[in-house]
Amino acid sequence: MKIDNNCVVAVHYTLTNDEGDQLDSSDGREPLEYLHGSQGIIPGLEQQLSGKEVGDKFVVAINPEDAYGQVNPELVGQVPISQFPEGADIQPGMQFQAQGPEGDAQLITVRNVDDDTVTIDGNHPLAGQVLHFDVSVENIRTATEEEIAHGHPH
Ligand code: ZN
Repeated sequence: MKIDNNCVVAVHYTLTNDEGDQLDSSDGREPLEYLHGSQGIIPGLEQQLSGKEVGDKFVVAINPEDAYGQVNPELVGQVPISQFPEGADIQPGMQFQAQGPEGDAQLITVRNVDDDTVTIDGNHPLAGQVLHFDVSVENIRTATEEEIAHGHPH
């Protein structure tokens, strides 16, 4: 069976950045399961997986436009520190969930803190980065009608 739309695919993967630092890995966990063709994973990786079979292994570098996009400077802004709870220990690198413009959860990263203002960044933490994936295909099966209707594996 080759990977095609409406297959539920299980992969083991290791993700590293351009510097070779490991950012994520399914090592020691269950393989990642996703529904092929439902945009459950980044487009560049889904494209590479099309037509692969169980046992296939590959390494691929994915550019930002096929991953989490370029960094959007408009998503970086400053807010007065007074908007944060009093006594909160705000540090660069901290992340928190905020409500996005369409009411969806958005991950915000604190970039800088000074006496009066906090610089926050609503870009995806991996925006602007070339992502290096080391992937092995562990399992492929036909999705159920319910999974296809929901757009994710069960
Ligand atoms: Zn569901």
